[in-house]
Amino acid sequence: MNFIPSPYPAVECRLDILRSNVAQITQRCHAAGIQVAGVIKGVNGRYPLAKQFELGGCDQIASSRLEQIYEAKKANLRGPFLLVRIPMLSEVPNVVRLCDITLASEPALLSALNEECLQQGKRLKVILMADLGDLREGFWNRSDLVETALYMENNLSGLELAGVGTNLGCYGSIRPTVEKMNELVEAAEAVESAIGRQLTWISGGATSSYVLVNDGVMPERINHLRIGENILLARDLQTDWGIGTMKYLRMDAFTLKAEVIEVKEKPSHPVGEIFMDAFGNFPTYTDRGMRRRALLGLGKLDLGDIHKLLPKDAGIEVLGGSSDHTILDIQDVTTPLKVGDLVEFDLNYSTLLFLTSSKSVTLRYFDGEREVAEGEAL
Ligand SMILES: *Cc1c(COP(=O)(O)O)cnc(C)c1O
Repeated sequence: MNFIPSPYPAVECRLDILRSNVAQITQRCHAAGIQVAGVIKGVNGRYPLAKQFELGGCDQIASSRLEQIYEAKKANLRGPFLLVRIPMLSEVPNVVRLCDITLASEPALLSALNEECLQQGKRLKVILMADLGDLREGFWNRSDLVETALYMENNLSGLELAGVGTNLGCYGSIRPTVEKMNELVEAAEAVESAIGRQLTWISGGATSSYVLVNDGVMPERINHLRIGENILLARDLQTDWGIGTMKYLRMDAFTLKAEVIEVKEKPSHPVGEIFMDAFGNFPTYTDRGMRRRALLGLGKLDLGDIHKLLPKDAGIEVLGGSSDHTILDIQDVTTPLKVGDLVEFDLNYSTLLFLTSSKSVTLRYFDGEREVAEGEAL
């Protein structure tokens, strides 16, 4: 027996909007002498979406996950392919097989990559990461960075030292500034003077670093960015940072539609002895009397943190849920809901990340009004 997927929950993806966001960003970056690696990990590397990064003008396709790069290559995306999570030693053979460029920060990894490259007869480009205070990946000491770069240049002939890069605004929430970018340029120039040649790339970061391009203040020598969220959703900078000068980017490329499976009037405060929820938490509840509530057929398994959902109807309040259920307060909705109705949500990065990886969620693709099949050549 075949399993025929149910239509909902569904994420509807507007390929034309995505393509337009890619083009808007790549044009501005190119005008500033900056190449763009389009990062596809936020949508699990789904083919029709990854393809728009290419069509919109990205210079490289990037992911943190090798299986997504594999899928992109299998679908004949042109690449070059950049791995943005510094590789595990155990994935070295696949990195060399699948990637053209990787980020790196560990001498032991570089040695392993070098040996694998020599064995496979390939030359892998490497961008060495410098940690400028965000405290995720990268060399902390400038001298370690320069020493490793010099060692690579002189001893690891399977690798091409192609650049120096950094990542900000991820773990340590550090804001990319002109000063931080200048610090990166200084680190790269220290490497350049040690190896006696110019690097191909100085990679200034991700979505958060794009702000400096938008404002026209990115230091000249930064010539590479790795951008995901600001292409896919364009929500972090416009909504969370409150940047008003990026209206050329659309925030509506993705819409979640979920189906109502129960509508009832119930007390807003649980009845009985309050103990522990399904995930081992001890939440508190506000008593607002009897309220109209709706249950949806999707839950934490599909979208991670239910409270990150953004209902399109301002009268809907997300109360919470469990693995497979989402609970809404619908007392104040404009149009009343009944079983079988669909509720629409805007997405943010983490919900998009989960939804595009869930087996229970159907992805539908539209180019303008026209629906496009997943495998359709674009
Ligand atoms: C995920 C990631 C990116 C892209 O981040 P966005 O904020 O989605 O633009 C860039 N660089 C690295 C190293 C990453 O891990």
